[in-house]
Amino acid sequence: MDRRAFLNQTALTTAACTLPSLALAADSPLSEHRIDRVEFRTVSVPWPRQVGRNSTKGIHGQGPTRLRVCVLHTNRGATGWGQTQGKTGKAEQLLELVQGKSIAELIDPRTGITSDKYHAIDIPLHDLAGVILERPVWALAGADEPRLTKVYSGMIYFDDLDPADNPAGIDQVLENCRWDYEYGYRQLKVKIGRGTKWMPPKVGLQRDIDVVKAIHQAFPKVEILVDGNNGFTVDTMIAFLDGIADVPLFWIEEPFHETVTDWTRLRDYLVANGRKETLRADGEAKPDFATLERLQRDHTLNVRLEDICGHGFTRWRHQMPRLTRQGIAASPHTWGTALKTVYAAHFAAAYGNAPTIEGVTTRGGDVGFGENKIVHAQFHPSHQPGFGLALPS
Ligand SMILES: [Mg+2]
Repeated sequence: MDRRAFLNQTALTTAACTLPSLALAADSPLSEHRIDRVEFRTVSVPWPRQVGRNSTKGIHGQGPTRLRVCVLHTNRGATGWGQTQGKTGKAEQLLELVQGKSIAELIDPRTGITSDKYHAIDIPLHDLAGVILERPVWALAGADEPRLTKVYSGMIYFDDLDPADNPAGIDQVLENCRWDYEYGYRQLKVKIGRGTKWMPPKVGLQRDIDVVKAIHQAFPKVEILVDGNNGFTVDTMIAFLDGIADVPLFWIEEPFHETVTDWTRLRDYLVANGRKETLRADGEAKPDFATLERLQRDHTLNVRLEDICGHGFTRWRHQMPRLTRQGIAASPHTWGTALKTVYAAHFAAAYGNAPTIEGVTTRGGDVGFGENKIVHAQFHPSHQPGFGLALPS
């Protein structure tokens, strides 16, 4: 039975029930389904253009065109799929871990996967639970309506520097901003840190300043985020901020690897220089959890960024209530694939407390994104079961 046929068949039987009873009852549909097949497939989710360098990495390329995803099949004909995380080995090895298990043994829709053993298939299991329960993933956590949030384009790199033998200059960056604006974004995250390894330090810093000023001038109503990919020191970051004194910033991400001393100094500078409202985001690259926790106690940091898949969809679900109580926002990292943007959007829609989500744009691939899309500068997650993403047939 294909996914659509399965959905049609189950729609009538589940529509009248409420989620808590579905999730808890011994006769929950999740108990009736058992994994009987695991399949790996590849999907194509390319970016709309070449993405260049950031402060630490070279040209990123055209995006994933052979992305490995996992498809879980149940004995009753349901399927769920999505990106995996970490080492999964072959399909047979993964099947050994879950074969014959009921979906209720693997995932509790209210809280996520039942054991870290299933971390690799956290996303496919959420999709599958949503399909079986006829709920979008954002509703599994109990939300009646999705909490909508802003979305930024995370695709403004150092495209002024390439091609290396004839650099395109700042106009290329502005052209990319224009493309993203026309696509629907009203927030742009601009990579900075050209002086870390690609240009002489002072020249690179000045180029970062010129780029951000040029974007603000060309798109005065767009909110700008900056991301240093840990390529700055606290002093070079402050020099950059002095250089763009008239440009409002929505957030600053990973200027340097998190330390209490550096972030405290930067926070004090921001507060003293009219940037109290600029969000301070960290936790993406090699997160130092003890330091992050310490920095958020007094809101020196106020946005957490761990990856939606690498950190884990369920781990994010577990920590979100506490972050919300502490007044710390979350915006899980999604860079790389447009699928991850959808996962993060469902997560944010379930819990709120995300000031924006990271948009990775795709064009020309073979995944159906359905209702998952940007409308009026907000990311709307699908109301269809699971993540509402369709595998190529
Ligand atoms: Mg980043």
